[in-house]
Amino acid sequence: MVRYPAAVLRWILASVGLPFLMSVAQAVAQDAPVVACRVCSNHGTVPCGKHGKLWELEQPSRGTVFCSAAADCKACAGALAVDCKTCRNAAAETELQRRQNLVKEWVQKRRKDVDAITDNDPIFHLQTAHFDLAFGIRPTMVGKEKLDTHPLMHLYGDRLEALRALYLKTFDLKEEEQAGRLQVYMFRHGQDQARIGPRVTGIGSSQSTGTKLMGVDCVYSMWQDLRSFPDDEALYRGVIHNVMHLLLCNTTPPQVLYNRKQGWIDEGVANWFEDKITGKCTNFCFEEILMMPGSSFKGGRWRAPVRKLVDEGKLKSFAEISQLNTDQLDFQDHAMSFALVDYFLAVHGGAKLRDLVRLVKQDKPIGEALQAVYGLNPLSIDAPFQQWVKDNYSPLDAR
Ligand SMILES: [Zn+2]
Ligand SMILES: [Zn+2]
Ligand SMILES: [Zn+2]
Ligand SMILES: [Zn+2]
Repeated sequence: MVRYPAAVLRWILASVGLPFLMSVAQAVAQDAPVVACRVCSNHGTVPCGKHGKLWELEQPSRGTVFCSAAADCKACAGALAVDCKTCRNAAAETELQRRQNLVKEWVQKRRKDVDAITDNDPIFHLQTAHFDLAFGIRPTMVGKEKLDTHPLMHLYGDRLEALRALYLKTFDLKEEEQAGRLQVYMFRHGQDQARIGPRVTGIGSSQSTGTKLMGVDCVYSMWQDLRSFPDDEALYRGVIHNVMHLLLCNTTPPQVLYNRKQGWIDEGVANWFEDKITGKCTNFCFEEILMMPGSSFKGGRWRAPVRKLVDEGKLKSFAEISQLNTDQLDFQDHAMSFALVDYFLAVHGGAKLRDLVRLVKQDKPIGEALQAVYGLNPLSIDAPFQQWVKDNYSPLDAR
């Protein structure tokens, strides 16, 4: 309410009448919000009250750009605010409308591109700073709490952003070296993956658990095959592994690694982040036909078996492993790849491994790349690497 001194009010009423007073009040409300609206503190809008416990999750300040569940809110249509009925604020109303339109356009496009094709589960959508996520995973126990699909999607949105941030930090990468947006699809049923996966990645069959498209467009599409991903931890680890491939590929210059005979980098880095975040490595990128879902090597704890191979003189030489593409690596090669990455990161730091990856992407022969970055050659790596394994990996260590 505009508060005029009573004397002024009497004067205005007496001299010009009520219509003029109302137009003055409106002009004041529109031009300069000196009006003290206690309901909205002069914002012209009030927070939408229909989001309950999930209110925090929807906030742009914590990384949510768009969420389809918020977009479905009947009260605010995803704007997270509603018009204040007590006052008028044209600018705020216009902004509210603009925000609602943005949300609507986004959600309609996602529904057309994804839901209209899968036509199966309720699928939620989330946009964060660097990821577009489509999500239909069944309600899942996370720690001691059971999360429904919608809050679980926000958790995965957070995890994806955190993984990206950890990757940039580990490899000392700048934001501008990691330019692309990543598309991630996580479905509850194989049928949805079968419909969308090949469509968005251009590869994979209706049988596959997950498919990836890597390059300038980076896409990972998967379904929750319970044989491979029986619980949240296993699912999270699978996402870490596969999204790491996308992140690695997407780093400038965007380029796939799996077919450059340096599969040890591609798999080693993906396995290293699995271990870093969850304490185990359980994902492999073999030709799918060779791999039973849920297969694992040494319970996913690879340091002790690598130490054993070194002690027994059975570890491959670097010269041998650096001839293999990703899909040519067997279980032991995966463990060795993980250990090589662990060694390079621990002893020489992430910036150097970043530089090595860059040269490999540019098709520099591995010998020249090693010489340029580390002053080593493929034959002189074995001794210091194996010594480092002996010094750092216990043959008894469970991890
Ligand atoms: Zn108000
Ligand atoms: Zn949400
Ligand atoms: Zn709302
Ligand atoms: Zn892999």
